Amino acid sequence: MIFSDFLRPNNLSQKMMRVIFSIYLGVTCLITSAQFLAEYLKTQNSIANELKQLEETVRSPIATSLWQYNKNQLNVLVTGLLKMPIIKGVDISDKDYNNMISERSYTRSSVPLSVFKTESDLFWTLNGKEIFLGSLTLYSSSEVVLERVFFGFYLIAITAIIKLSVLFWLFIWAFNRYLAAPFKELMAQVSEVQANQNISKRIELSVNEDNELKQLQDNMNRMLSTMEDDRKRLLEDERAKRNWLEDAVAKRTEALQISNYKLKWLAARDSLTGALNRGSFFETGQQLLTLSQRRKLEVSFVLMDLDNFKAINDTYGHFIGDQVLIHFIKTIKGLLRESDLVARVGGEEFALLLPDTGIEDATRIANKIRIAIGASTVKVEDKTVTYTMSTGIASSETGCYSADELFKRADLKLYDAKNKGRNRVEK
Ligand code: GH3
Ligand code: MG
Ligand code: MG
Repeated sequence: MIFSDFLRPNNLSQKMMRVIFSIYLGVTCLITSAQFLAEYLKTQNSIANELKQLEETVRSPIATSLWQYNKNQLNVLVTGLLKMPIIKGVDISDKDYNNMISERSYTRSSVPLSVFKTESDLFWTLNGKEIFLGSLTLYSSSEVVLERVFFGFYLIAITAIIKLSVLFWLFIWAFNRYLAAPFKELMAQVSEVQANQNISKRIELSVNEDNELKQLQDNMNRMLSTMEDDRKRLLEDERAKRNWLEDAVAKRTEALQISNYKLKWLAARDSLTGALNRGSFFETGQQLLTLSQRRKLEVSFVLMDLDNFKAINDTYGHFIGDQVLIHFIKTIKGLLRESDLVARVGGEEFALLLPDTGIEDATRIANKIRIAIGASTVKVEDKTVTYTMSTGIASSETGCYSADELFKRADLKLYDAKNKGRNRVEK
């Protein structure tokens, strides 16, 4: 598992390993080569010493053979020497340095890589005097050295390989344990945060030491906290804006509703007196009549006209005439019920629709109004105006629940009242 991770392309440990192991391998090779060389030179030195000892051993018999010109004995000695594993060649020269014997244990085709030798002069002592006979040279070769150092080399190489592989696995293990595993954990948690868009979650690594990873974890958590705060602030801002907008819309809607209501109210009313206008009176009046018909309730229609109003206008002017009209409505409203409909149906002509009221009650109310108006005075500026009114009444007692029809009938009665001298009620 660890190793397969390691082999993944773009793996961080692989890259680190490449760098570290290239350097490590180079250094190891260098050191190992130096060790090899030292071992080789040491061994070559000891072989050279051995050659020297051998030479010292055989110098005397060779010198004897040379003195006695015993060629056979010399050849036996040389053959014996060449049989020794460390000796690869023997040279014997006479006192004039002419080669007498030159033997090699290798052939021309198997010349060793390098050859080294020891050389010594041969003497014969006669009457205490040393006579120079020639020289003896013994050869050994790199092969002899390599044979000796082979085991040492082998050990050095094995040690180097063992060290290298232990370090390799140790490095993989350590990288995985201290870097790759916490990084994987970190990446998994970061991915989780990203996938769920859950910035209220915090990264919690299983590392307890206060190392760089822990610091990275803390920094990321601080970043998440800042993001969370920012998001909260944004949400709050948005909520505040939405509330403000909803508030503004609600206020505007309310204002519009009020305006609408006012408009409706104004459209239904006469602008001078505030009483219902003719159109809305007949519309609402007909609804009231239809409802009363269904409930079998009586309704009375009262039509009122101010007497000689033209004369009031002519005497006091139109402005005062208007004040009289306003006074009239104000006065009669105080004498009526909430449910009664009051309207201005003409210039100085007013209508009442009295629900659940028979003709007798209507007459009583009409007279009460007539008396109240007759007894009242309108004071405008320094003028005092008195006026009277005539009234015609029609009721649904006859089974008529049509507003237009009742109006016509009441109008006829009003006509009667005018004809009979005004300031009266006719039914
Ligand atoms: P009658 O007793 O027969 O009803 O006599 P009258 O003078 O009241 O009747 P007429 O129909 O001849 O005159 C009504 C007058 O009402 C005429 C008009 O100038 C006046 N008038 C109508 N509307 C208004 C108004 O809004 N303001 C004022 N000041 N006068 C109005
Ligand atoms: Mg009139
Ligand atoms: Mg009139």
